[in-house]
Amino acid sequence: MPTLALQLQADFGQVVQLVPADGVEASLLIPIECTSCHEAHPNPVAFEPSNLTDLQKSRGTANLVVNCPSCRRENSATFVVRKPGSREEAALGEASPWTPIAPDAEHTTGWHTLCTVDFRGMNPIDTSIDALLTESSSWTCCGAESGTIFTDMQFDDGEWHDYDDKAGDEVSITEVQLRWQKV
Ligand SMILES: [Zn+2]
Repeated sequence: MPTLALQLQADFGQVVQLVPADGVEASLLIPIECTSCHEAHPNPVAFEPSNLTDLQKSRGTANLVVNCPSCRRENSATFVVRKPGSREEAALGEASPWTPIAPDAEHTTGWHTLCTVDFRGMNPIDTSIDALLTESSSWTCCGAESGTIFTDMQFDDGEWHDYDDKAGDEVSITEVQLRWQKV
């Protein structure tokens, strides 16, 4: 039952606060494998913070419940959410699990945690930023100095480019890398 942080590292060109645009409705799309039979699920699975599903045999709920197509085991994934500034868990499905990447212009380098997920019976397989959100979801960020809000962002080949009218300069996010890190 690993708890894993989805971390991102990139070159931020004059933008900060990269985060999925739809809050609790933003859907992650991740390839997974079953930890019992080690079969990869045929398709990436989508799961979003606001979606709660009951677990069959145990009490409680998860954001994603999948029966492994090979061994039929019930596997699940749940976003870890905490009330801001406390160690207490906030109400699942209501609190946003996302932490904006590169909170300010001083913190644009290194690995940043986007979200933390509790996996039971499954493991995420490596993925890319292009395919990390479902088609109906997009990213948002804002100009580091100008505060210009960019919406409907999509990544292509791990890159995003736009123009900040207010700053009169090009903006970009390039060299995006993702990893799942044990926490
Ligand atoms: Zn399995």
